Amino acid sequence: MTNRTVYVGAHVSASGGVNNAPANAAEIGATALSLFTRNQRRWTSKPYESETIEAFHAAMKEHGYTADHAMPHASYLVNLGSPDEEVRRKSIDGLADELGRTVQLGLRWLNFHPGTSKGELDEDATLRRIADGMDRVLEQVDGGVLVLENTAGQGSSMGARIGQLASIIEYVADPDRVAVCIDTCHAFAAGYDIRDAAGWDALIQETIDTVGLDKLVALHLNDSTGTLGSNKDRHKPIGEGEIGMDGFRAIMEDTRLDGKPMILETPDTDRWAEEIALLKKMAGVTA
Ligand SMILES: [Zn+2]
Ligand SMILES: [Zn+2]
Repeated sequence: MTNRTVYVGAHVSASGGVNNAPANAAEIGATALSLFTRNQRRWTSKPYESETIEAFHAAMKEHGYTADHAMPHASYLVNLGSPDEEVRRKSIDGLADELGRTVQLGLRWLNFHPGTSKGELDEDATLRRIADGMDRVLEQVDGGVLVLENTAGQGSSMGARIGQLASIIEYVADPDRVAVCIDTCHAFAAGYDIRDAAGWDALIQETIDTVGLDKLVALHLNDSTGTLGSNKDRHKPIGEGEIGMDGFRAIMEDTRLDGKPMILETPDTDRWAEEIALLKKMAGVTA
C-alpha cells in the first residue's frame, strides 16, 4: 500500500498574493492544493504582476508541487447558465480571466460550478447554455481545462447528477479541455449514498459509465451537515457529518483515485493538518 500515489490537501488561503498559497499548503502537510486565483467575490481584478507569477512558480517548486497537485477554484459569482445576459457575459469574461490566470500560474485545471437558469429554461436547454458559455471561455484562452464540479442540487443548480455533467461535456465543442471534479458533500446532499464502500463504488461506477475515469481529475473531500438528498451545500469536518468515517475510508482505499488531487474544503482551517494526516493514514501512505 505504501507505494500508492495519493495527493491530499486543502483549499488554502492566497491572501497577500497567490504566491503565498504553496507555503500555506506545505505547512499543513498537504500534497494537493486549491486556491482562488483572485478575489472570488468580485468580477474583475488587476492582472498579475510578473513578480507574483515568478514568486508563485518558485514557491510551488520549493514545496514540491506541480500542475498535477493543484486545481484553483473559480469565483462563486460565475453562472454560465444565467438567464440574465449581463450576468452571463460577466461570467464568461470572468471565468476566461481566471482560466488565463491558471495558465499563467503554470497550472491546467480550473474548477467551477455549472450554474443554473433559475428555472427559466428546461434542463437540456440549460445544460446547452452552460456548454455554449464554456465554448466562449475556452476560445478566449490558450490552454487550460475547465473542470465541472458536481453540485448539491440546491435551487435548480445543474450538476447534481453526474449524467448532467456528461451531457455538458457532450455539448461542448472541445471536450478535451473539459473535465470533472466530484465533491463528496455535494454528491451526498444530491442523493448519492456514499456512507460505505458499496455506495462509493456505485458513484465511481456511474462516473466511469458516463464521463469516464480519465475525465475525473480531482475530488473535493467534505463531510456533510445536510442529510442524504437534502440538497444542502453545507460542509463539515471529515467524519463529523452525515457521511462519516466509513465513507471516507472507502474513498481513501480506492486506488482508482490515485494521482488525482483530493482537496478539503472543510470549515475549520485549524484542523486541516489533522484531517490530512487522518486521510493519508486511511490511504496507507505517509507522505
Ligand atoms: Zn466548489
Ligand atoms: Zn467543492
